[in-house]
Amino acid sequence: MFEVCAFCGHKHLTPKNVSYRHQQGEELLIIDDAPCLQCNFCGEQYFDAAVLKAIEAEHAAIISQQKTPTGFKPVAMESFTAIYRY
Ligand SMILES: [Zn+2]
Repeated sequence: MFEVCAFCGHKHLTPKNVSYRHQQGEELLIIDDAPCLQCNFCGEQYFDAAVLKAIEAEHAAIISQQKTPTGFKPVAMESFTAIYRY
């Protein structure tokens, strides 16, 4: 596992359970309580390869309709061109 943050070099990484967003094409899956190590300084999150593999497999099963997710959330959408005047 990681001992220092590859992003900022900080040495204190704390185990945490976080909400992880996995995207595959247009499909988005939010996984709650995903275990990771989080940098105390910059907030960068590090996930074990086994965790990412499990999330990927779950998402693939949902996309191919072999599994049904626990729930659905409505997601707010906006186009940047609609909110910003150049
Ligand atoms: Zn860091």
